[in-house]
Amino acid sequence: MGLVSSLRFRRRNNKTFLRIFMILVLSCIPGRTNLCSNHSVSTPIDLPPGNPSDIRSLLDSLDLEGYISFDDVHNAAKDFGNRYQLPPLAILHPRSVSDISSMMKHIVHLGSTSNLTVAARGHGHSLQGQALAHQGVVINMESLRSPDIKIYKGQQPYVDVSGGELWINILRETLKSGLSPKSWTDYLHLTVGGTLSNAGISGQAFKHGPQINNVYQLEIVTGKGEVVTCSEKRNSELFYSVLGGLGQFGIITRARIALRPAPHMVKWIRVLYSDFSAFSRDQEHLISKENTFDYVEGFVIINRTDLLNNWRSSFSPNDSTQASQFKSDGKTLYCLEVAKYFIPEEANSMNQETEKLLSELNYIPSTLFSSEVPYIEFLDRVHIAERKLRAKGLWEVPHPWLNLLIPKSRIFDFATEVFNNILTSNSNGPILIYPVNQSKWNKRTSLITPNEDILYLVAFLPSAVPNSSGKNDLEYLLKQNQRVLSFCAAENINVKQYLPHYETQTEWKSHFGDRWETFAKRKYAYDPLAILAPGQRIFQKATHLSPIQLL
Ligand code: FAD
Repeated sequence: MGLVSSLRFRRRNNKTFLRIFMILVLSCIPGRTNLCSNHSVSTPIDLPPGNPSDIRSLLDSLDLEGYISFDDVHNAAKDFGNRYQLPPLAILHPRSVSDISSMMKHIVHLGSTSNLTVAARGHGHSLQGQALAHQGVVINMESLRSPDIKIYKGQQPYVDVSGGELWINILRETLKSGLSPKSWTDYLHLTVGGTLSNAGISGQAFKHGPQINNVYQLEIVTGKGEVVTCSEKRNSELFYSVLGGLGQFGIITRARIALRPAPHMVKWIRVLYSDFSAFSRDQEHLISKENTFDYVEGFVIINRTDLLNNWRSSFSPNDSTQASQFKSDGKTLYCLEVAKYFIPEEANSMNQETEKLLSELNYIPSTLFSSEVPYIEFLDRVHIAERKLRAKGLWEVPHPWLNLLIPKSRIFDFATEVFNNILTSNSNGPILIYPVNQSKWNKRTSLITPNEDILYLVAFLPSAVPNSSGKNDLEYLLKQNQRVLSFCAAENINVKQYLPHYETQTEWKSHFGDRWETFAKRKYAYDPLAILAPGQRIFQKATHLSPIQLL
């Protein structure tokens, strides 16, 4: 080996060694313990070293189009889950991508002299502090609204939006052009960056995949402050890392989202089952067909009185007399909820297709209810519930939610134990359950799912009632979640948490399984100081390592 090639070899080996060292360090740092399950208490930890006023003046010295605020940080100290309260040092209200890039570069430059971390905050609808940065910088992504939403028509229509845009605004804007995104979440007052960092799963996901499967291009500010455009073909490693990447690799500043022609109306149908096997068989039948409904979901109802009468405010029974004789009390029932999109001129053929599909199902005949609503009303349905809950003071309460992805092969075991033995009533909130066709999903994203073609999303979505005891009490609901998880562990049901939350890095490693190493490598590549999204508690800011520019 000549001298030059020997030096090159050694340099390459040194680089490789440093790389491996970094990955090991990043992956061996124990998860932060400061965010433990204390409720609405702030625990001062990991304050940036040095005089806080020095750090303030350093941040203040940045030349920005937007601004930094050091006061009025309490809103960014909590989230929808309402269980953690961890105030940031500052909030950046960016007006441009370069504001975000400058902030990131500045913090990278400070390197190990500061513990400052950065959390992009979408609409703050996380559940366990994922969008918080204790004594760090929270970036208020909703300030980043420019340039405006831009729609491109043509063979493959799409819309370019800011990462801080709310899905409801995208819907309103695209509908003006007769277009709409394909895949949704049940609630639209969430941001593009927030849902793309997770997946974005709803009743359309069996057909179109989750929202992360319906993105053509992203603009990202990485953990090094670089602004990178990426897509399936360009910087694809970054593209797939960020999708479902829990905010670990970069901040989504823009996204190009696939569109389709928008329907005007939706036929929205509910039917009940008393037998779980019949219910899940029908759900799976519907998601396996080419010509089927446009939306398939379902939920569990445990011991509800007068259920069908309550539905009458928004749905009409197919047979009023039969429906009034049906009793729900004391029973565990499964509601299949489906929807068919249409334009008024095609109402007849839509009705024929719907009747044909319904004739293939085995629901309880007296429980068929339906309604026809405008498309936007259907998609924005949870907002109506939000308004009602807000009016009763029941929106801003703790939300001990648990979302699980369960392989089809074990859903019966899961349902039998959980819906009959662990849960004895519908606690204060819905329990969703529906299958999705994972075979149609892109497997290159960072989203972690059980390894089967058909998965069930099961979402326990209770609201804890403050100062209550019994089944609506926060501690009770948390214990109930734990019982569900313990049952899955004991029975070896390979569930994966969706919107995952863990206390330790060992649990994170087990969540990622054989994909942990790739995840840690990608972290090293795009955010080597582990500055981003500290509230996920996967990595801790690297304070003892050289700043990346020295590597
Ligand atoms: P935030 O809570 O602000 O952020 C979430 C995470 O993403 C944080 O780690 C944050 O740092 C990071 N992040 C935020 N913006 C960016 C960005 N621009 N770039 C990079 N990282 C970023 N989910 C579903 O899939 N399907 C549903 O049907 C569904 N329904 C919901 C209904 C309600 C009422 C609520 C409260 C939540 C629901 N969710 C659903 C969960 C929701 O998708 C996630 O909680 C999502 O993260 C919330 O979006 P957000 O904009 O509020 O994000």
